[in-house]
Amino acid sequence: MSEPERLDIALVGGGLANGLIAWRLSQLRPELRFRLIEAGPEVGGNHTWSFHEGDLTSPEHAWMAPFVTYRWSDNEVRFPNRRKRLGTGYCSVSSERFRELLTARLGERILCGSPVRGVTPTSVLLDDGTEIEAGCVVDGRGHAPSRHMRLGFQKFLGQEIEMAEPHGVDRPVIMDATVPQSDGYRFVYLLPLTATRLLIEDTYYADGADLDRARLTASIRQYMTDHGWEAQTIVREEEGILPIAIDGDIEAFWDEKAGVPASGLAAGLFHPTTGYSLPDAVKLADRLAGLPDLHAEAVYAETRAHSVSTWKERGFFRMLNRLLYFAGDASQRYRILEHFYRLDAPLVARFYAARLKTRDKLRILTGKPPVPFGNAIRVLARHRLTGDLA
Ligand SMILES: Cc1cc2nc3c(=O)[nH]c(=O)nc-3n(C[C@H](O)[C@H](O)[C@H](O)COP(=O)(O)OP(=O)(O)OC[C@H]3O[C@@H](n4cnc5c(N)ncnc54)[C@H](O)[C@@H]3O)c2cc1C
Repeated sequence: MSEPERLDIALVGGGLANGLIAWRLSQLRPELRFRLIEAGPEVGGNHTWSFHEGDLTSPEHAWMAPFVTYRWSDNEVRFPNRRKRLGTGYCSVSSERFRELLTARLGERILCGSPVRGVTPTSVLLDDGTEIEAGCVVDGRGHAPSRHMRLGFQKFLGQEIEMAEPHGVDRPVIMDATVPQSDGYRFVYLLPLTATRLLIEDTYYADGADLDRARLTASIRQYMTDHGWEAQTIVREEEGILPIAIDGDIEAFWDEKAGVPASGLAAGLFHPTTGYSLPDAVKLADRLAGLPDLHAEAVYAETRAHSVSTWKERGFFRMLNRLLYFAGDASQRYRILEHFYRLDAPLVARFYAARLKTRDKLRILTGKPPVPFGNAIRVLARHRLTGDLA
């Protein structure tokens, strides 16, 4: 029998977070032996990963530049009583570009079609019985439900549509909430990829995680009709059910990992309110590639400490989510967002980047509340949830 393969790092799950870690390791630590182990036929899945320009620092933008497939200098939001251009940049990474770059750079270090059955801090067991040993394993297999996290869901169906005529959308529409409200807070998200190609996502901040594809497909068709658009081809589809953090015990979440380092959603690293995880993945990739000691204990300590401190800094967002999900009738959720977007663009950018200052938090909470405050406090108490402003 052949000896098990011995690596410095085994990255389990070839998605966004581990893909970026692999990229950064190959740039900054070319001497390391690592592999990116993916269950599916290729790395990167089927996504359009977007982020706001202000989410990344200049050095982060510089190394992410090859991945950026689309870039816009503005974006807007639409509500029944507010339409606003933010005037800030927005970028998207397609899975295809991500895959092309990783494949060209990493070559045989990528192992696809290799579902992992089990991991320890220093070993990986593939479904076919192959064992891989490593100085450390990083679990980046995406979101897995945990009894230590209470979540709401942002679910959506997206269709990339080639139109018969130019669609006339000049900039990304992050939320068009002028649509009929149903199943929680509903909005349509638009990315103008070319003059005739549009990504249209029908999105719901819902209580449940079930996604009714037929209903969402019909809603997109209706939205197109309402805008006078005619589809020539549906080029591709993507769907997502993203976690929105309501409450949780992050230390208990990590205790269950039995010493296995983690990345991405598996590490609880996502923006509690938007569900975006790309900026966190970029930061973690830099952090890990810069670690002098890449043995399992050190990497576990680093990923855990980073995730715990990030989670703790974001208590304010979870409190806002609790108000969003529990303080009023679900059909009125859009009012909380409409009220939020009265704020100026730099504050909104800090909100997206999860870098709010104390005075931003106070400003978010001032003004005539869109849901009665007494009601909000009663509802939080009924759900045994706190209203901390941490
Ligand atoms: C359609 C969609 C669009 C999104 N859009 C955005 C966006 O615009 N901006 C943003 O920031 N976030 C977005 N997100 C949210 C989030 O950033 C993504 O879910 C992101 O891909 C999470 O990164 P990850 O590395 O944690 O997990 P993933 O990228 O999901 O990667 C996990 C990988 O692990 C693999 N895997 C799972 N189990 C095993 C196993 N047993 N063995 C081996 N491999 C395994 C999976 O096949 C997958 O490739 C989107 C999510 C979806 C689903």
